[in-house]
Amino acid sequence: MTVGTDWALAWIRRTADVIAEHRVELITLDREIGDGDHGENLDRGFSAVLPKLETLPDGSTPSDVFKVVATTLISTVGGASGPLFGTAFLKAAGAVSGREEIDSAGLVELLTAARDGIVLRGKADVGDKTMIDAWSPAVEAGAAAAESGADERTVLDAAAAAAEAGAVATEPLVAHKGRASYLGERAVGHRDPGAQSSALILRAAVEAAT
Ligand code: ADP
Ligand code: MG
Ligand code: MG
Repeated sequence: MTVGTDWALAWIRRTADVIAEHRVELITLDREIGDGDHGENLDRGFSAVLPKLETLPDGSTPSDVFKVVATTLISTVGGASGPLFGTAFLKAAGAVSGREEIDSAGLVELLTAARDGIVLRGKADVGDKTMIDAWSPAVEAGAAAAESGADERTVLDAAAAAAEAGAVATEPLVAHKGRASYLGERAVGHRDPGAQSSALILRAAVEAAT
């Protein structure tokens, strides 16, 4: 089994649905330790992606899908998360460029490139209470699964589960990047919105692989 363009399209469409479903939850999280727009930012961005997917020609690759996501998020999402997720998808596109099918090892390359893109752009370390606290454990868990011979869906499932745990684990942290870093100790006890949305995006990737 491998995943291809149908999976990539299903992932992004499912992400748009899930972000819309969780819009208020993400806004509420961002209201606690940010400016309350994270759900709106991502909903606007992924809603804008959907019609653009329809314009992709037959024969498009997963990389082509991710490039559309990247450029649309960068141009339509105000706020930190637009360029961060945009860079993640741009680097993911680069990692699987020219491939019609992606195997478990390829998914690890994709996830690693996405995470590294976010770090390149935002310079956050693990423990800074950002989306990196979801993406980094996701990459590690996905890589461990792939090394033990897991199939594509199992690699994605391991990554999503680690991202979900990583998002929860941001709750006790003080933030060192982004708006929440202005709050000092007052950010303690609140989950980082970008880590939560990252977990939702990665869970959508699993659901698309079934
Ligand atoms: P803004 O903070 O500009 O309103 P959003 O609310 O859309 O943008 O996104 C906030 C999220 O962006 C945070 O919850 C955090 O996960 C992420 N974030 C902010 N700065 C950084 C950074 N430097 N590196 C990684 N992620 C970051
Ligand atoms: Mg915000
Ligand atoms: Mg904002």
